[in-house]
Amino acid sequence: KPPLRAALQTSVVLREEGESGGGAATLRELCRGHVPDHVLSRAEGIGYVMPTDVQSQALPVLLSGRDCVIHAQTGSGKTLAYLLLVFSAVKAQRSAVQALIVVPTRELGMQVRILMIILEKSSCTVMALLDGGMLRRHKSWLKAEPPSIVVATIASLCQMLDKQIFKLDALEVLVIDEVDFLFNSSKQVSSLKKILTSYSSSSKRQTVFASASIPQHKRFVYDCIQQKWTKRDVVHVHVNAIKPLPS
Ligand code: ADP
Ligand code: MG
Repeated sequence: KPPLRAALQTSVVLREEGESGGGAATLRELCRGHVPDHVLSRAEGIGYVMPTDVQSQALPVLLSGRDCVIHAQTGSGKTLAYLLLVFSAVKAQRSAVQALIVVPTRELGMQVRILMIILEKSSCTVMALLDGGMLRRHKSWLKAEPPSIVVATIASLCQMLDKQIFKLDALEVLVIDEVDFLFNSSKQVSSLKKILTSYSSSSKRQTVFASASIPQHKRFVYDCIQQKWTKRDVVHVHVNAIKPLPS
């Protein structure tokens, strides 16, 4: 095995604050040609007109189809960055789970789900798997008509996959939000590995990790690259400081 440092330098591109992310000014300009118009209009409607720093760095990378680690402080706007990617990838007419967002807690899952519903009301179905009860109630319905997008805690997700309630073999985008949090438990790390390895090949799927800190995930991402669980070039978008939100 080559030393960690050397491997990371060849396979991870670092972007620091201030480096140009494409030069476009507005969110609409950054997302043009990728994200459906009605989603951008809704985003503007709730005041998301100018990108935050991390959004202007990450969106060109995400929308070009590359795997990415988005590393920036809490409150920097990582959620909207990966949700815009999700809406660019999901096709309304396909009856299969195309995007999966894994979150550490139920509360975060609810927030992500609410933002998704605000941004996209018409054509995608979003399902939140944040506790076990839901699964039992909707099992047959889910099998017949899988949602386009699933946001799930890792525990609920594993439960669902064990029971084969629906498949993830048409997955286009996999987001692991607050990936650093998952390292608190070795059970979660092994579940995460299972999700990364078991469903859809990494060459087809786009994988995104979001995190506010990097205690251990750098090594984890390196392992993912080595094992071919991600694409070869994982772009590391790192924004250090938060500028005040655009008003
Ligand atoms: P993070 O996941 O990086 O901690 P969030 O995605 O939760 O941050 O976003 C933090 C806050 O910034 C939220 O209240 C969100 O509504 C707001 N926000 C995100 N993007 C924009 C934007 N482009 N313009 C204005 N506010 C934004
Ligand atoms: Mg977040």
